[in-house]
Amino acid sequence: MTAKLTFLGTGGGRFVTSRQIHATGGWILKMDNEMLHIDPGPGALVRAKQYKVDLSKLTGILVSHCHPDHYTDAKVVIEAMTQGTTKKKGVLLTNETIINGLEPEFVSFFSKYHLSALEKYKILKPKDKTNIGKIEITATKTIHGDPKGIGFIFKGSSTIGYTSDGEYFNGLGKQFSDCDYLILNLLRPRNSEWPKHMNSRDAVKILKEVKPKLAILQHFGFLMMNGIAEKEGKWIEKESGIKTIVAKDGQSVCSLF
Ligand SMILES: [Zn+2]
Repeated sequence: MTAKLTFLGTGGGRFVTSRQIHATGGWILKMDNEMLHIDPGPGALVRAKQYKVDLSKLTGILVSHCHPDHYTDAKVVIEAMTQGTTKKKGVLLTNETIINGLEPEFVSFFSKYHLSALEKYKILKPKDKTNIGKIEITATKTIHGDPKGIGFIFKGSSTIGYTSDGEYFNGLGKQFSDCDYLILNLLRPRNSEWPKHMNSRDAVKILKEVKPKLAILQHFGFLMMNGIAEKEGKWIEKESGIKTIVAKDGQSVCSLF
């Protein structure tokens, strides 16, 4: 076992998040002696407790963009990681909007109090590379509501891509061509288009380009509830020829390669 992913939630979008139809706590990556929390949305702290994930062991937090289902619990997760800010510890990687805001709609999210509890924090733009321990992290481009939103590639014992939110564009898949695992934020089913968000047809296009060994679908919107995500997952697997998992709240996936 080289890496372990745990989903503290598989819901996304305003309606699923505000009603907690699926949990929205983001996901955890354990690999190469690091433990990273990606996109800690509403309920991350509570879901970590529910699914027995000890956030005091975190070594990093990554926030892809300025939508509430990705960032709201990040401050309290910093407090969990740093033992209530008593221990200067851990890395925050995020995009520019989260740190500096984006006029006129969004003010910066973190207080100096929380940022100063970290060992360091860094703003990433698409193609920027950095490291947390032995893991090399590359930011990827997205086309989404936050114009500075990013996805991530984690390159360590396993290579794992995370698209974050956003619509399909020419070149999206190419960014993840090295990835053995690809996590896709699939907000909508194949018959529903929503500009700047991914649907099942986009997922098939991306998977045909990337050809990962395993695709993991998560971050399901309201139209993916009541068994639709599972049906879409089967269709995506058939159309793309890529083995596909439809993640469940609290599920862990261990890497085999
Ligand atoms: Zn978003």
